[in-house]
Amino acid sequence: MAEKTEAPKASAEPLRLDPSFKYEVMKEHDGETLKVCFQCGSCTSSCPTARFSTSYRPRTILRMAQLGLRQKVLQSPTLWLCTACFTCTDRCPQDVEVASVLRVLRNLAVKKGQMPRIFTELASNIYETGYVYKIPEMRLRKRSELGLPPLPKASLDKVDKLIELAGARKLLKSKELQ
Ligand code: SF4
Ligand code: SF4
Repeated sequence: MAEKTEAPKASAEPLRLDPSFKYEVMKEHDGETLKVCFQCGSCTSSCPTARFSTSYRPRTILRMAQLGLRQKVLQSPTLWLCTACFTCTDRCPQDVEVASVLRVLRNLAVKKGQMPRIFTELASNIYETGYVYKIPEMRLRKRSELGLPPLPKASLDKVDKLIELAGARKLLKSKELQ
C-alpha cells in the first residue's frame, strides 16, 4: 500500500550552510569518500532500514553533509537509525564508505552532545555488566533451573580499558547528552 506523505512543514529557522562541515567529515577515516558521492541513490534503494522508514534516507544525509547543513544533519534523529549492515557500502558505484561516513557523522553528533538517551543507557549497561542488556537475576535462576550453563562473565577490566581508550567515560557522565 502506498505510504501517505505529508507536505514538508515550513521551518521557522533559516537553513544555515557551513562549508567547513564536509571537510570536518572528510578528515576522519573513510570520511574522505563523502566527496565522490554523485547522488545516484543506490545506497537508499538498497538500505533495509530505508525500506521500513518514510524519513531515513542515507543518500539525503550524505547530500546534506556535502552541502554543509551541519545542524540539520547532526540533530537529525534519523542519523541513529542506521544498523551498520554495510549493504549501502557494498552497493555504492563510487566506493563511498557510506556506513562509515554515517558513523563519522554520529561521532560528530556525540561530540556536540547529540545522542538519543537509549544509547547512553546501553553503553552504561556494557560498562557495568559487559552486556548490552542487564540480565535480570530471575532469568539467570531460570537458566540454572533448566540446566543451562551459566553465562560467561565479561572481563570488566578490559571493558573499562576500552571505554577509557574510546573516551566514552566522560560521555557516559555527560549531562548534556539527550
Ligand atoms: S550509492 Fe554512493 S554515490 Fe550513490 S548516492 Fe549513495 S553514496 Fe552516493
Ligand atoms: S549501513 Fe546503514 S545506511 Fe547502509 S544499508 Fe545498512 S542501515 Fe542502511
